[in-house]
Amino acid sequence: MGPGPSNPYPEVTAALTFPVLGHLDPRFLDVLDETCRRLRKVFQTENALTLPLSGTGSAGMEAVFVNFVRPGDPVVVGVNGLFGERMCDVAARVGADVVRVDAPWGEPLDPSALVSAHPAPRIIALVHAETSTGVWNDVAAVGKVKGDALLVVDTVTSLGGMEVLVDAWGMDVAYSGTQKCLGVPPGLAPLTVSDRARSRLVERPTSWYLDLNLLARYVDSGAGRVYHHTAPVTMIGALNAGLGVILGEGLEEGWDRHYRCGKLLQDGLEAMGLELFATRSHRLAQLTTVRVPETLPDGMDEAGVRRALLDRFDLEIGGGAGKLSGRVWRIGCMGHSSRRVNVLTCLGALAEVLKR
Ligand SMILES: *Cc1c(COP(=O)(O)O)cnc(C)c1O
Repeated sequence: MGPGPSNPYPEVTAALTFPVLGHLDPRFLDVLDETCRRLRKVFQTENALTLPLSGTGSAGMEAVFVNFVRPGDPVVVGVNGLFGERMCDVAARVGADVVRVDAPWGEPLDPSALVSAHPAPRIIALVHAETSTGVWNDVAAVGKVKGDALLVVDTVTSLGGMEVLVDAWGMDVAYSGTQKCLGVPPGLAPLTVSDRARSRLVERPTSWYLDLNLLARYVDSGAGRVYHHTAPVTMIGALNAGLGVILGEGLEEGWDRHYRCGKLLQDGLEAMGLELFATRSHRLAQLTTVRVPETLPDGMDEAGVRRALLDRFDLEIGGGAGKLSGRVWRIGCMGHSSRRVNVLTCLGALAEVLKR
């Protein structure tokens, strides 16, 4: 949802206006260390190697494959949406032998199909919350039976918006992004790596910038800290503030708020006669997919509806992504925007524009 009816966390806005510190200033390094500690709490992990990568969520995805895959390594990837597709593309570019396990878009992946796809994969990778379809995948079920493989999970749209338990669910590597349910501008990719995964890092990855061996030395808060690249200090300050808001509210309270707003929205859309896209049992609360109705008023097309919401109500909803382009709308209810007042505004605005 757009900037108008939503109310960005004031703490984050304030952090974005703080004077810029040098990236080696001890006062900034304290903020960095605190940010890593807060990330461990939000990821629900004890992993020592937990840090904000410079770059958006996709940088997290790229970092995983360049740091853990050598050419020819078998990598199983679950695909039930655009971001699973992207994982296959990124993994293939570093030379992985990609074994795809597909599920229809709108339905969840089958955990047993993922674990039986290859006898000894180096990695099993999947997206927890598929932003392109509005479906969540059962990470805990895969974690229980992953065997020797490293379990890699994209938590870009789940972290902060629903239960994500890195250690308890057996994830070895998880990455996220700041601009989804963390409620911070785009620009960083929180990443966490288990000790088991750490012992399997590629020694000299093809990317220097995303080399986790080098980055681990930079985020080391002890005497071993070694400069790597200039940290985006302002964004790290903003992330630190956003994580502070989330932990202040309470993780479970935040998940619950997302759940209640998603339910209110989805019930309201159905009451309006609209049809939801994602399988009911695996619907995300923070991202709702709704089918574009067959008939729209006044000769409008689906993009016209989105444009009217933006122009008349300052409210942005997403169009369909990838092969769902033109077929669904995607309504995000994430982070600070996941509020009852925003949901009610959205339902009222849609009713008005769709004349329902
Ligand atoms: C948004 C998103 C990404 C990509 O993140 P960027 O910040 O756009 O690079 C990856 N995975 C999922 C599930 C996403 O929703």
